[in-house]
Amino acid sequence: MDRRNFFQGSALLGTGAILGCATPGVAQQAARTPFAVPATYIPIVGTDELFPVRRIYCIGRNYAAHAREMGSDPTREPPFFFQKPTDAIQHVVAGTVADHPYPSLTKNYHYEAELVAAIGKGGRNIPVGKALEHIYGYTLGLDMTRRDLQRFMGDQKKPWEIGKSFDKSAPIGAVHKLAQTGHFTQGAIWLKVNGQTKQSANLNQMIWSVAEQIANLSEAFELFPGDIIYSGTPENVGPVVVGDVIEMHIDGLPNLSVKIV
Ligand code: MN
Repeated sequence: MDRRNFFQGSALLGTGAILGCATPGVAQQAARTPFAVPATYIPIVGTDELFPVRRIYCIGRNYAAHAREMGSDPTREPPFFFQKPTDAIQHVVAGTVADHPYPSLTKNYHYEAELVAAIGKGGRNIPVGKALEHIYGYTLGLDMTRRDLQRFMGDQKKPWEIGKSFDKSAPIGAVHKLAQTGHFTQGAIWLKVNGQTKQSANLNQMIWSVAEQIANLSEAFELFPGDIIYSGTPENVGPVVVGDVIEMHIDGLPNLSVKIV
C-alpha cells in the first residue's frame, strides 16, 4: 500500500484511526487538513535537530519547603502531576532576555524555577532503576502560574488549568543531550528577579527524584518520546509585575532569562 492509499484508507475510518496510530503526530503531519496547527519544537544544543514536544507533565509540591509554603504536609503526600498544553512552551534562547507577556485575568503572577527532563524512550510501568534510561536530555524552565486563580480553583475543588496551563506559561531553554550534561541529581538551582535572589536551593532536595517521577508517571500514563517533565520548584515562589526581569540558573546549564511585558 503506498502512502496516498494509506491516508485515504485512514480517512474512511475517521480521524480516530489517525490519532490512534502507534507514532502520534506522524500521520497527522502528512494528512490533508483544512488549516494548519503548528507542532511544538525546542532546539537541541549542538545539533540542527529539534526536540518535538508531545506532552508537558509537571509535578506539584516536590520540595518540602515549597510544599509547606503551599499549605500541605510534604511527608504524607504521594506525588501528583498536572499537564500544560504544548503551546504553553515559550523557547528562550540562551544569552537573551525574551519578552514574556503578563497573562490576562491574574493579579498574582508567580515564577517557579524548575529542572526539566526530556523523554527519549517511552514506556509503561517503568521501574525506578530503569527510569533514567528513558531520558534524552535536560533543560531548565519556568512553570509560570496565575497563583490567585490556581488557589481560587483549588479552594473550590475545581480543576486548576486556568492557573497553570495557559499560553506561554512554560518558558524553557534548549534541550541538552544527556551526553553533554549527565544526570542532574544535585546542584544549585536559583532564581533572581531584577538581580535579587528569590529562590535558592539544591536539586538534591527534591522529594521525588526525576527517576521516581518517571516511574510514577508511567503507571498512570504511557510515556512517549517527546514528553517532558517539569520536576518541581523549590520554596520562595513569588510574584512578578510588568517590567521585572527573571533570571534562573541550574548548575551545568546556561541561565534562562525573561522580561515581563
Ligand atoms: Mn511547578
